[in-house]
Amino acid sequence: QLDWNGKKVTVAGLGVSGIPAARVLHGLGALVTVVNDGDDERSRAQAAELEAEGITVRLGDGATLPAGTELIVTTPGWRPDKPLFTAAAEAGVEIWGDVELAWRLRGPGAAPWLAVTGTNGKTTTVRMLASILEAAGLRTAAVGNIGVSLLDAVLGDEPYDVLAVELSSYQLHWAPSVRVHSGAVLNLAPDHLDWHGSMEAYAADKGRIYEGNQVACVYNVADKATEDLVREADVEEGCRAIGFTLGTPGPSELGVVEGILVDRAFVENRQKNAQELAEVSDVQPPAPHNIANALAAAALARAYGVDAKAVRDGLKAFRPDPHRIELVEEVQGVAYVDDSKATNTHAAEASLAAYDPIVWIAGGLAKGATFDELVQKSAKRLRGAVLIGADRALIREALARHAPEVPVVDLDRTDTGAMSEAVREATRLAHAGDTVLLAPACASMDMFTNYNKRGEAFADAVRALAATGDA
Ligand code: ADP
Repeated sequence: QLDWNGKKVTVAGLGVSGIPAARVLHGLGALVTVVNDGDDERSRAQAAELEAEGITVRLGDGATLPAGTELIVTTPGWRPDKPLFTAAAEAGVEIWGDVELAWRLRGPGAAPWLAVTGTNGKTTTVRMLASILEAAGLRTAAVGNIGVSLLDAVLGDEPYDVLAVELSSYQLHWAPSVRVHSGAVLNLAPDHLDWHGSMEAYAADKGRIYEGNQVACVYNVADKATEDLVREADVEEGCRAIGFTLGTPGPSELGVVEGILVDRAFVENRQKNAQELAEVSDVQPPAPHNIANALAAAALARAYGVDAKAVRDGLKAFRPDPHRIELVEEVQGVAYVDDSKATNTHAAEASLAAYDPIVWIAGGLAKGATFDELVQKSAKRLRGAVLIGADRALIREALARHAPEVPVVDLDRTDTGAMSEAVREATRLAHAGDTVLLAPACASMDMFTNYNKRGEAFADAVRALAATGDA
């Protein structure tokens, strides 16, 4: 264990990870300074609280490295090219993210981590995994973006057997020494490239989840880039590469045979060459991308030694979180589906593939993405499109290029009220049997505080429509 007494630690960022990190480090005896770019009312209130506890806070100056800093613990979202980090590199100061901190602070005999990353499907897969581990009678938690925070899971009084951990590419970037029991990369598509600098750098950060794996590196057979990352990783002796596929599985893979999820990698009874795990219809929603998530979760659970029955029970008990392909209501034969969580093109592609015909509500902040491929792949299923948000022109132009026959309503609005109008316009375009699908392929922050709020605005408009005939 490290000696924190008197160690000068700079915490970068006041926020959901910075504040608890500062408190924990202060409690261990470190001399903590929190630096923060913003200096608004909220951060002043937070700073006042921390200062009352004896923690130094510098507002409005997240760029300057405090003198004598021996370690930086950063909010994962802070970009690596920030001047603070350049200064740290020059001074030879180590930088840890929140995950690295939790990893270093975990006690002896701490629960092993089963970890999941990927461009899309992380939260869903981690929750499925936790559900399976629970069904196996293990003490566990889904840790990460939702539910328990990693620091709490590691330092709290709850004795866990094993943790199901969601890791973002940012967190992995700042987690150099984390070594998990088994890890999975679900898929890799361009996202957050402005942060990482390039697709290569993004992939390399995701690939860190495999470094030092003890039992299994789980990859997506349909996404070769994930398999390449396994090959490049330096793992413990005896650690196996395990693929998952929506097709018939090979010898070290999990896959699907005649509507049944089967495992050919971890077979309990040696007489058999495959273990039946669950039926496709046991998984909610049974859309292809979600079956892939279920297989990845099953692979990690099986690597940990969970039996086939617990996989089935756990998958059956799993219910998806809100705003992830959620059926809000059916009104006059039209299904209204909320996939507000589809904040990038790769996610939107998954839900656009699950319905036909679709009236598509899209738009928001594009984060540097292009929409040609998404539109090309989905064009023949589109009845129409309704566009909202700051970067809607990018989608409109892609539609004009690849789907000129699809009617497009371009709402020139970025206010929150635009969602009701979008639902009204979509309803006008829809025929009975169609799906009106909110799958924005963009972030929400131009119009809403987050994707939850965007999904709620959609659901509210749909319910108003159902109740009064008008959104
Ligand atoms: P994350 O935690 O990675 O953001 P979520 O589980 O919250 O992922 O799902 C986010 C969105 O991504 C979902 O709403 C769905 O549209 C899409 N999605 C989920 N799983 C997959 C997958 N395996 N491949 C592609 N898209 C997916």
